[in-house]
Amino acid sequence: MSLARITRWINAHTGQSCLFCRLPISVPVKTAPSSMPILSTVLCGHCQPLLAQRSRCMGCALPLPVDQIKGGLNLCGGCLKRPPIWQRMTVAGEYHGIWASLLAQYKFERRFWLAQPLSASIPVPSERPDWLMPVPMHWKKRWLRGFNQSTHLAWQLSDRWQIPLWQGIRCCRYTATQHQLNAQSRRRNLKQAYQLKGAVPKAHIGIVDDIVTTGTTVSELAKLLRRHGATQISVYAVARTPPPSDSTGR
Ligand SMILES: [Zn+2]
Ligand SMILES: [Zn+2]
Repeated sequence: MSLARITRWINAHTGQSCLFCRLPISVPVKTAPSSMPILSTVLCGHCQPLLAQRSRCMGCALPLPVDQIKGGLNLCGGCLKRPPIWQRMTVAGEYHGIWASLLAQYKFERRFWLAQPLSASIPVPSERPDWLMPVPMHWKKRWLRGFNQSTHLAWQLSDRWQIPLWQGIRCCRYTATQHQLNAQSRRRNLKQAYQLKGAVPKAHIGIVDDIVTTGTTVSELAKLLRRHGATQISVYAVARTPPPSDSTGR
């Protein structure tokens, strides 16, 4: 490891440089969004405003057009036409820029400690679920990555929101990485990938994921949970991928 990399690593882990732009964190703080006080401690004053929340569709969590916000609607046109299987999806931001960078550091550079500030950035639900369920990961993928990023986020949310975890679904198929696939390939990839390990609580279950891309994964899990007795589903994630077109939205 080069000296520069070692220095970056030490700075990042001692909180001396911004995790996004790498400038010293002593840059004066301007407007840290109040809902994200923990995450703002690892970002400089220039980058903190990038965390600002936007009004989002409660179905797909994509930003709502201004005219719909004015009209008091909280569902986008796509979700009004074809409502998702879950009641509400809540995310902190879009999966690009600062959120993509923070999530990449969390997942691929094994900065486990980011689970705490990243989970704290997910808005607190107005209607709390009875259980939280992290998106399950195949044992081989977990072994290769070293951890299930959704489980670490769910542990944090469980602690913060005082909601118990339910982990009654296993991923029984080692699938190719979902990230690069389109919605159709994802559905094919996930066919029968999840199996129940026990009885599903007849209650409101909140699925926790790090990134919702097309929504195929959470959709497969939500269908399984609803089919076996869950009364209501919510989805919580750090980031939502903006779709290239409406056709890949869910
Ligand atoms: Zn910065
Ligand atoms: Zn929507």
